[in-house]
Amino acid sequence: MKPRHLLVVDDDEAVCQVMAIMLTDRGYEVVTETDARNVMGILREGEFDVVLVDIVMPELDGLALIEKIREHFNILPILVVTGYGSAELTLDAMRRGATDFVTKPVDSTLLDLRIRQSFDLEETRRMANTDGLTGLYNHRYLQERLKQEVERAERYTRPLSVVMGDIDHFKNFNDTFGHPRGDKLLIAVSTTLRQLSRASDVLARYGGEEFTMILPETTAEEALVLAERVRQCVAALVLDTRDGQTARVTVSLGIASHVTGCSSERLIENADAALYKAKRAGRNRVCLASGEDDIEGNGDTVDRLATRDGLITP
Ligand code: GH3
Ligand code: MG
Ligand code: MG
Repeated sequence: MKPRHLLVVDDDEAVCQVMAIMLTDRGYEVVTETDARNVMGILREGEFDVVLVDIVMPELDGLALIEKIREHFNILPILVVTGYGSAELTLDAMRRGATDFVTKPVDSTLLDLRIRQSFDLEETRRMANTDGLTGLYNHRYLQERLKQEVERAERYTRPLSVVMGDIDHFKNFNDTFGHPRGDKLLIAVSTTLRQLSRASDVLARYGGEEFTMILPETTAEEALVLAERVRQCVAALVLDTRDGQTARVTVSLGIASHVTGCSSERLIENADAALYKAKRAGRNRVCLASGEDDIEGNGDTVDRLATRDGLITP
């Protein structure tokens, strides 16, 4: 097995050195950092399997750092290395997303055990949150994450949009080419979504052939641009079928954006209503929800806005 890469963050150079020797002896590749402010940059640059974080540091305290790491790295295990008598801080660190903790002075065998356990724990967490076929997040995680994103959008008055996509006539595709080809199509569509989205977007398989994108910091008009790109890229996919033949598919998409007081459930309902409208209007198109209107089934405003921007191609 290839060596695991660890990042040790502690403002005390001596602690860093001791930890580096201890962990290198146990077969890990170790990078140390004494300035917490550099950590996000280091994590983005390299591939790390676990981060060990000291809590009390002068430049940026460990608790804030843990929160920051969690915002960008969902699965990465974070182990807190705590000093004597800081149970409260340790608890706080766990609440903010730390995976586990070890206390100073650090025992090498115990630390090694905790590191191994944190891999297992994060792997279990990853499996519980992802869809086995496409590797996208699953429905359960989507619900949880959307709630958090709605809370954040509400608290800081930031834009947030949701896109729901559903492959057109997918049943026919399965019936004609078989389920294994259908599965390949689902994988191809999820790859397209990944290629077109930002790292901060959350991509999930909502159900069978339905996909959801949570787009933080994205207005409805911006989401419309992305959804239209998705529509075009899916329509441009050339899929191998049996006997060297190829097939094409299309996707319909609905968009809803967060407005003050709108719950995550309502946001999904609105995006779903917009998707349904795209289906009714003939498929292979993007429709934008306008909150209340859509639930009531009044799509006039929506279609006018989207058409005005030239973003709907029937
Ligand atoms: P529409 O354009 O109205 O969306 O029509 P549709 O045929 O895509 O929609 P419908 O809901 O009737 O059918 C969805 C199909 O998706 C039926 C089911 O066989 C297929 N499906 C769901 N999950 C999977 C999967 O994991 N793999 C494959 N291959 N097919 C799946
Ligand atoms: Mg469908
Ligand atoms: Mg469907």
